[in-house]
Amino acid sequence: MNNRPAYKLFDLSGKVAVVTGGAGVLCAALSRGLALEGVKVAILDVNRQGIDHLVSEINLAGGDAIGIECDVCDTTSIKSAAQQVIKEWGRVDLLINGAGGNSPHATTKADLPFFDLPDNALEWVVELNLFGTMLVSQVFGRIMADQQNGIILNISSMNAFRPLTRIPAYSAAKAAVSNFTQWLAVHMALEYSPDIRVNAIAPGFFLTDQNHYLLINKDNGELTERGQAVITHTPMKRFGSPDDLLGVVLWLLSPASSFVTGIVVPIDGGFSAYSGV
Ligand code: NAD
Repeated sequence: MNNRPAYKLFDLSGKVAVVTGGAGVLCAALSRGLALEGVKVAILDVNRQGIDHLVSEINLAGGDAIGIECDVCDTTSIKSAAQQVIKEWGRVDLLINGAGGNSPHATTKADLPFFDLPDNALEWVVELNLFGTMLVSQVFGRIMADQQNGIILNISSMNAFRPLTRIPAYSAAKAAVSNFTQWLAVHMALEYSPDIRVNAIAPGFFLTDQNHYLLINKDNGELTERGQAVITHTPMKRFGSPDDLLGVVLWLLSPASSFVTGIVVPIDGGFSAYSGV
């Protein structure tokens, strides 16, 4: 046992975490990182194959993970997942609302102007990102209210500070996630317990399945015009790698941030700080 004060500040061993979208690129990396810190991790996702793969990888490496198929837009599905986590581990200390993403059908392009974006595609994006965070927070937030402690971490985006071109529903939904983060932080502290904290991270540009088509040209593997613009406007001159998120996430989920609630932390290589001049 390491008795250095900084070690204790970041110690999460024995905690129970729920990670939605846990089979995705960014949240799989976070789930692996938490498991290595001794956290019991419940991976919630709609991707059964992805869940099974990750859970067996974590458990084979000596971690403690369970996988639950769950749709974050469906309260019945979320409640059923919560029951399974409580049955397995009896409590929920940490929640990462990671499920989210954009759709190519809600993205403007030369032959698909804003005026013609289909309403069901726009609704899908807002539902997944905003309500997929809010509904899950209702279910697991109630458990934390009963426990009188817990930590919720939402995933916002660069879009929340200033909208990016071409993806209006995703931009609006992530701005709403940042707003909801502040709302819920205040609500939980005032109404239930000051030991329930709610924060968010806003990742910059990380190459994943959902944005690859926008940033990398599939024909030659080179940066698209948009991908080049991102690198030009990122002072650190690279895309993020999933492990770039872990340090900030461990800070926000641990006693090291015990007086921090209601903030959105950019993890973006300086993108949001740079005026371009
Ligand atoms: P990803 O597509 O790899 O992961 C998203 C995961 O969510 C997938 O495993 C998917 O199966 C799951 N999912 C989708 N719909 C679901 C639903 N209804 N219920 C449960 N699970 C569902 O994406 P990622 O890049 O790892 O993104 C993770 C989070 O980070 C998202 O909220 C995304 O918006 C956000 N984000 C990503 C970037 C980036 O550059 N990749 C930047 C900023 C924010």
